[in-house]
Order: sequence, then structure tokens, then C-alpha cells
Amino acid sequence: MGGESWNARRRQTCDSMQPMTFTHSEVATSGTARDINRGIVLNLIRRRQPISRADLARISGLQRSTVSLITEQLIREKWVIYGSTGRLPRGRRPTFLQLNDRRAILVVDLRPTTTTIAVSDVNGRFLSQEGVPTPPDPHKGATKFSEKIRRMIASHPDLVFEGIGISVPGRFDASRQRVIFAPNLKWPEFDLRGPLEKATGLHVELENAANACVLAEVWFGHMEKPRDMVVVTVSEGVGVGIFVNGLLARGLNGMAGEFGHVPLDLSGPRCSCGRQGCWEVYASDRAALRYYHESTSSNGPNFRDLLLLAEGGDTLATKALDRMAHGIGRGMRMVITGLSPEEVVFVGEFTRLWDRMGPVIEAEVAASVLVGKAPRVRPAAAEPSVARLRGAVALVLQKHFGPAAPMRGRDAANARRAMSELPAVGRTKVRRMTLRT
Ligand SMILES: [Zn+2]
Repeated sequence: MGGESWNARRRQTCDSMQPMTFTHSEVATSGTARDINRGIVLNLIRRRQPISRADLARISGLQRSTVSLITEQLIREKWVIYGSTGRLPRGRRPTFLQLNDRRAILVVDLRPTTTTIAVSDVNGRFLSQEGVPTPPDPHKGATKFSEKIRRMIASHPDLVFEGIGISVPGRFDASRQRVIFAPNLKWPEFDLRGPLEKATGLHVELENAANACVLAEVWFGHMEKPRDMVVVTVSEGVGVGIFVNGLLARGLNGMAGEFGHVPLDLSGPRCSCGRQGCWEVYASDRAALRYYHESTSSNGPNFRDLLLLAEGGDTLATKALDRMAHGIGRGMRMVITGLSPEEVVFVGEFTRLWDRMGPVIEAEVAASVLVGKAPRVRPAAAEPSVARLRGAVALVLQKHFGPAAPMRGRDAANARRAMSELPAVGRTKVRRMTLRT
């Protein structure tokens, strides 16, 4: 068998074994059996910690010896530490393993007005957090963020930093390493990775805010097995992150999911993207504020104030938010009809009023379903900024952890079967790679 066909086969096999891998380039570069096993063990420890080696072997279906080799390596690399000792009626007392929470990630939630910079441990727990006014251009932004990040690293001398994850209110084109579409930020096309890596010496990962929220759900949510899902982020604009067949959809130029800029009315109000009548001019926080101002001459509250007014029973604020809910629902028709997700998760300040606004949106979603049952619709458990920051944590972690969800039962069996079906030369390679771990 030629080298090329072996590589093609290996990629194909690894694809089937990595249902949670997010980019095909990762499959091609890190999709070895050793990496897959390591990812399975790391993710099992992450989700089930503290956990014994025996349970790791039992749940993953990997051999005890393989689990021991991998965990020893993870302990040497300081990803994993010994936790408490278990108690059994007799026999040996198992030592439980857990992630080393001294390993940390710097995360940035870049927003049009205020940017949040935080330090998180590997479990997505935030150790410190600061807000900074967002500078007017990317050059000043890179300088300011670098200074702040260096200061935050210096204030945590006990932590080992793995990298920087950044959620951006725009689309990141990985092939060009630039943020290419961020109409609400009003920065021109920019490269944030280069200057920040140079200034901090840490690896930088960027992702669109809606995609970051998808990662937050997949990594830190309670799903044992991820479903086809869309995450709709509603703030200054409206973003959609699409998770389908275990993959984040990025599309050409990283632009998949820009439903917010699909025009619903070509003669509607002007949008920040330059077009008219886009979905987000009817459904965003800004839309609700516009609705409110149309009905009163009082000088404007911000969106949080508007929510407070509505919570206090203010009729005009309530009406404005009702129109916003209908605006969200209108656009959901194209999302649901086009993508048919199993679950829809909403991220946004407006979800504080979910009891009032949620049913309007759920009704529109249900009305969009052509055949069969409607998808589950729910607000995200985390606050919007926390969701985006957690997604930024996952961005960095997925480089080390590989697949986000542990393979169990049938998935693990499928992975092993795929391995056994490799051509003979492949099996030899895989065995050698496994032993090397
Ligand atoms: Zn637009």
C-alpha cells in the first residue's frame, strides 16, 4: 500500500474515531492512536475527576497498562496530579487522579465597549477577572491587552500558563490568521494573534463569540454526548454558532453562521454591516433600545437598564422587549428550517427575562418545524460573558485534550474496531505508537 493511500486511510479512520474534533487540520496533524488515547484519558479525568486508574480503564475500554502509561506521562507533564485515596473494604486503596488546577489559561472576551480579561484554571474556574475599555483600533488594542495580560501573569506566579484564548465579536479566518468581519466592533480587518504572541510568548487562539459559546456548551455543559446544536448569541448583534455531526461549522473564510446579516426586509433600517433590514436590526439589544426610543422621548437607558425597567413593570420597556423577542423568533425560522438542530441555546442578557421572552421564541421555533418534533430551546446556564470566556478556555484546551467528550461504550468500541481494521502496516505503527506513550 502506497504512503498516500495509507495516509488517506489513516485520516479517514481517525475521523471516525474523533467525533469531537473541531478542524480537519487537527485530524491530519494529531490524529495518531497515541493522541486519541491520551485525549480519551484526559477528557475522562476532566469530566469524572477524581477518578481511579481502574475506572479510567473500565469506562474507556483501554487496557490497564495503556491507561497507566498515559497517566504516568500526564503526571510527569503536570497535567494531572494525585488526589485523594479511595477506600475499599479490603485490598489496595486506589489513588484518585484529577487535573492539575495550577495549569491556567488567559482568556479575553473582546466586546465593542468593554473587554474582559480573565485567568482560568483548566476546569474553567475563573481565578481573577478585569474589565478594560475596548480601544478604538486593533493596534492600540493589542498594546493594551498585552500590558494587561503580562500584569495578570505576573500576579499569579504560582500558575503555569498554557496559552491565550480570545472570543471576538466577528469572524476569524484561520487560513489568513485575521479577524475579517467585525461590524459591531468597528475595527478594520486585523491580526491580534501575531502582536499578542510576540508580546507575551504564549500561543494565542481566536474564535468567533457564537462559536466560543458552542465550545463552552460542549466542553463545560452536561452533555455526555453532544447533539447537533446551534447557539444563538444576542447582544450588540446576533451571531449563530453551528455544531453539526460533532464538528463546529466554519465555512469558507470562517463565515458560516452569519444569519444575523441575512436581510429580512431590504427596505428595513440600516445595519452595521452596511446592508438594510438584516435580522440583527430587529433582534439585537440595539433593536430593543431603538424600539423603546421610538415610543418615548426620554433619554436612553442602556440595555441592562431596559431589562430592569421591564422587570419593574414599565410598559414601554416591556413592549420594546416583546418586539425584540418577535424579532428573534422571525429569524429563527430560517435557522430552524435550514439547519434542523436538535437543540437551540440562547446566550444574551435578554435571557434574564426568559419567562416572558422565551415562550415567544419557542412558539416561532415550533412553527418553523416542517415535520417531526421541535428542537429543545433553552437559555445558556452561564452568563453571556462567562459563556464566551469558558469557550475561550476550551479553545486553548482542545489543543492539548483533543476530542472534548470521552468515548464510552459503543463509541469506544467503534474506535477500537476502526483500529483493528487498519491495514497490517498501520496496525504495526499504531501498536508502536501506543507503546511509546
Ligand atoms: Zn447586517
